[in-house]
Amino acid sequence: MITAAGRFHFLRGSVLWLGALCCLDGAGEATARSAPSRPGAAAAGIATATPPPLPSRRFGAIGYVNLADGASRLGLKLAWVSRGKKVKLTGPRVTAEIATDTREINVNGMRVFLGDPVADASGKLYVSRIDFERCLTPLLRPGFGVTTVARPKTIVLDPGHGGKDTGTSDNEKIYALDVAKRARKELEAAGYRVVLTRESDTFVELVERPAIANATRADVFVSIHFNALIKDRKTSGVEIFTFAPQHQRSADSWSPGKKDDTFTHAEPNNRFDHWNMVLAQTIHRRFLADLKTFDRGKKLAHWGVLRSLNCPGVLVECGFLTSDAEARKIATPAYRQKLAQVIAAGIREYSATVEGLRWTASARR
Ligand SMILES: [Zn+2]
Repeated sequence: MITAAGRFHFLRGSVLWLGALCCLDGAGEATARSAPSRPGAAAAGIATATPPPLPSRRFGAIGYVNLADGASRLGLKLAWVSRGKKVKLTGPRVTAEIATDTREINVNGMRVFLGDPVADASGKLYVSRIDFERCLTPLLRPGFGVTTVARPKTIVLDPGHGGKDTGTSDNEKIYALDVAKRARKELEAAGYRVVLTRESDTFVELVERPAIANATRADVFVSIHFNALIKDRKTSGVEIFTFAPQHQRSADSWSPGKKDDTFTHAEPNNRFDHWNMVLAQTIHRRFLADLKTFDRGKKLAHWGVLRSLNCPGVLVECGFLTSDAEARKIATPAYRQKLAQVIAAGIREYSATVEGLRWTASARR
């Protein structure tokens, strides 16, 4: 426990994250890059006025904003669930429950892990400024204060692993490719141009995958994986990752024995922190609504497959191949078809959100 100003407890009550095995093949390595251009500078974007930063205070080395100020900024109503400990934010079609001392919050019924723990002091709740701007804002008020992105036309699907890289098992690379091909069919039927980073059981270097997306001018990138835990045949469910914002650490780094892996520099994909979250939320929502799969949450990571993307992107761990029950389902073509459908539906929902925001932004000009 680290105590800073007031009562501020790191990690008390935080949720232990047992890292996915399938993605430890160097994807998490840091590579220094020059800072990208300003956030949200997407091609064909429509600029909106950037609101001034909220007043902040420091807890330890991290800048925090009063959640009441944040709610007001986003036009949300704040009510105490437990005074001084937990609040509920509500607005048009959105709710969030946020409690002190933990990174786990609930947004629209979904588990989301912040980059920094929620803090409390003098009867007020605080979230880190980065979490407010790069997580809560896109989830609770998509498009607020950022330049809109282009209308999605080209989707790049990235079946994880392949060839000599089998992932968590031989089946991971096979199932990932199968789901990607099925999702391509769904998306092409909906009018999108779809590119896969591999078409067969071949090895593709990690760095090549986002390069393919950038070369094809992708508007959306989704990396498809399956999960595993050693000596655990029961854990199941979906996890959705976005690239951690600058100055934030990965979810895995909060596990016991792990080190703070904060990136002090920005990566190219950090230009899309806001839209990464919007995309993650739409896919996350479809997994829970359509598959009723267990929710292991939306998390941050430093996956190499995401960091150099010039478009919004997520990595989806569709389920656990080490879970007896879930692996049985994933082994069936019918369930993989459902997985493909929820990924495609999440992308379509993201597109509809972007379209709606672009229309609104255009109408205001
Ligand atoms: Zn994997």
